Amino acid sequence: MRYLILSDVHANLEALLAVLEAVDADGFDAILVLGDLVGYGASPNETVEVVRGLSRPLSIVRGNHDKAAVGIDDATQFHRVARFASIWTGNRLTADNRRYLEGLPRGPLQVDRRVSICHGSPRDEDEYLLSNEVADAALADATSQVTFFGHSHLPGFFVRRDQGVESAWVGPGPVDLDLDPEASYLLNPGSVGQPRDGNSQASFMTYDGDAGRAHWQRTPYAIAVAQQKILDAGLPSVLAHRLSRGT
Ligand code: ZN
Repeated sequence: MRYLILSDVHANLEALLAVLEAVDADGFDAILVLGDLVGYGASPNETVEVVRGLSRPLSIVRGNHDKAAVGIDDATQFHRVARFASIWTGNRLTADNRRYLEGLPRGPLQVDRRVSICHGSPRDEDEYLLSNEVADAALADATSQVTFFGHSHLPGFFVRRDQGVESAWVGPGPVDLDLDPEASYLLNPGSVGQPRDGNSQASFMTYDGDAGRAHWQRTPYAIAVAQQKILDAGLPSVLAHRLSRGT
């Protein structure tokens, strides 16, 4: 099985289309989407529609921004800019796309025998996985050898073996990781639509389940177009500026 893994698109249509163009999406057996389709960016409906129209079998979970945009979550945990963007998004979603987001399942979601997906962490969809201690506890709850997660927008992984948990963030270039079949993993593809690791290029990953090989990749996209749409929409300008900084 070959998987394409996308997370945190955040209504950035230009980044999403660039990723789908950079890989032959039809060549994958499954596409896994780890939540936060919307929020921050200016193209929520177009983004939802592209994902709904993907031609390969899709496994998807909701993210905290998806919940906030449709009112499942009241966004009181959000900072001012995120809350503003969430209300803006909720006002623009079509009834059909709103229903789609409302129906997204809470993670973790078991994709097959060896692979699961979640937004934040296997034990809590809103939890940030940033430390080995938290990852260790989360891996204790994981139901499969490989779990893909998002939420932090930081590409990298945690691996748990008998001797404990290790982790690494992956750098800007393409990175391959051969998984140890005896170990369990939490893998983060980074964010398609709002990278926060100082690299402005869209981040995503692929996974070859037969070879046990994970691959992180970046692709440039029309950042200026996405930025102009944010400004034209009247969304906070910081949401446009951060895209070119990758923060
Ligand atoms: Zn996010």
